Amino acid sequence: MTTEKELKWTKQRKHVREILETAEMPLTAGQIFAKLPTEEQEHYALSTIYRILAAFEEHQLVNKSTWMGDQTVTYEWNFGEHKHFAVCLDCHKRIALEHCPIALLPFRKHAEEFTITDHKLELYGYCKDCNKLHQAEEH
Ligand SMILES: [Zn+2]
Ligand SMILES: [Zn+2]
Repeated sequence: MTTEKELKWTKQRKHVREILETAEMPLTAGQIFAKLPTEEQEHYALSTIYRILAAFEEHQLVNKSTWMGDQTVTYEWNFGEHKHFAVCLDCHKRIALEHCPIALLPFRKHAEEFTITDHKLELYGYCKDCNKLHQAEEH
């Protein structure tokens, strides 16, 4: 398995890891680049960040997600626990769901045909603030 392969912790990789570990939201490669110390930015190219992220992804250290609709790819550090988000289509705010909704799905009757080992779920809609704006526009 690729996860068994040793990942070398270069200075650059450590930086990117630190940024991801402390980020409150999933970040794009560009946002990670912008968070690098200014004196470091000179030594990096955005393509370096992409390469580092690809290596992290290969070792399952990050979770990668793509925005529905546009092609924005974001990365978040994989802390082992899984989380689901409700995502606002307007302002891209992400609200973490308290519980995993998968447990509530009536899947049991399919259990003989299929065993779930993993899942991905995101809810899309509008946050409270954006919803207000939408309603104001309609009146
Ligand atoms: Zn919003
Ligand atoms: Zn879940």
